[in-house]
Amino acid sequence: MHPLADRQRVHFICGSDIGAGMKTELDLSRRPDAASAPKSLAGMSLPALKAEMEAIGVEPKKASMRAKQVRRWAHHMGCQDFMAMTDIAKDLREKLLEHYHLGRPEIADHQVSVDGTQKWLTRFQPGVEGESVFIPDVSRSGALCVSSQVGCTLNCTFCHTGTQKLVRNLTAQEIVAQILIARDEIGEWPASVKGRRLTNIVFMGMGEPLYNLDNIAEAIDTISDGDGIAIGRRRITVSTAGVAPKIPELGARTGAMLAISLHAVRDDLRDEIVPINRKYDLQTLFEAIRAYPELGNSKRVTFEYVMLKGVNDSLAEARDLVQLLRGVPAKINLIPFNPWPDSPYECSDWETIEAFADVVKRGGYASPIRTPRGRDIFAACGQLRSESVKKSAAEKRREAMEQTP
Ligand code: SAH
Repeated sequence: MHPLADRQRVHFICGSDIGAGMKTELDLSRRPDAASAPKSLAGMSLPALKAEMEAIGVEPKKASMRAKQVRRWAHHMGCQDFMAMTDIAKDLREKLLEHYHLGRPEIADHQVSVDGTQKWLTRFQPGVEGESVFIPDVSRSGALCVSSQVGCTLNCTFCHTGTQKLVRNLTAQEIVAQILIARDEIGEWPASVKGRRLTNIVFMGMGEPLYNLDNIAEAIDTISDGDGIAIGRRRITVSTAGVAPKIPELGARTGAMLAISLHAVRDDLRDEIVPINRKYDLQTLFEAIRAYPELGNSKRVTFEYVMLKGVNDSLAEARDLVQLLRGVPAKINLIPFNPWPDSPYECSDWETIEAFADVVKRGGYASPIRTPRGRDIFAACGQLRSESVKKSAAEKRREAMEQTP
């Protein structure tokens, strides 16, 4: 087990900015272990918290207020002990303790790159593990790249996650838990702490977020809640390989920034390397992008373009890219291809990437070349993959039987 996963034994300072100068030292050894408490409230949305309050008998008139109090302690303070929630009556705190806990899913692995990038493998349940990556010091901000699914159905040919079959969608709570874990680990509680290093969230980890839109919309409500985690919607970017019909809906429901994994400017090539293009071709994709709400200079679409040697990196393609983007407020991130074991591509030469970037820039679009981060720990774009596999209902039943004493 990762040493940090065993949190019950540490003494945790829960600094409060609710009451002036109030600081409580908590003994988390009082936290019930996950096995004896039915579920964690950490990462739950406000409506879900309200339903839990009602479920333990809080009268409906007061449930909303209680849910807001718990939300503030759990998501703003990072608190993991109900008994520290001093503005909640003691008998209710005891009831909460009896029925719930505030723990996070277990950290199955944690790696730190030479460049400061950190990667966590989170065990959401036995056999269901997904990765999140913290990329610090991107100018004055730092981003956490979260997973929306374990595995993926898309099979993009250059992506390592694409070689892992879909295990399942992550729940909204599991998506939010990835952020709570990162905040715990880098010590950024309360959410209002000055000089936060984790300032942005990108849905660019494992999976296709738009195949899990209900859960990511609920997660974004929780992440952007100013009385909770407080990372604004403009600092949250959702990346899609091109699930066209869901793109305008994403904007309407979440207000998040949009990123498109483009990677090719012709349908024949995109059909091959981003196979979802066979379902939603470039024309359909761009109609959906143009319908994204509120696009303008302060809300531009980010296009991701992986540089694959001899595949999509010619100057003619750079010129076609500029044509394709006409009329769309956009920025193009050129991503040097990150290799993974037995990957079938090579990264374009540096001069080729620079020449490509130049053409796009002269066409009027910002075209930064992304510095690969965390390659040494397989945390860079497209390198994420876990060993989790989807199990049949029969296999799950058999395992449950084996675990029963
Ligand atoms: N499914 C969504 C979210 C994943 S985002 C999407 O496709 O947008 C992950 C980003 O990394 C995507 O832009 C993806 O195309 C890119 N990527 C995948 N494999 C890569 C690799 N080997 N090198 C560089 N970028 C890669």
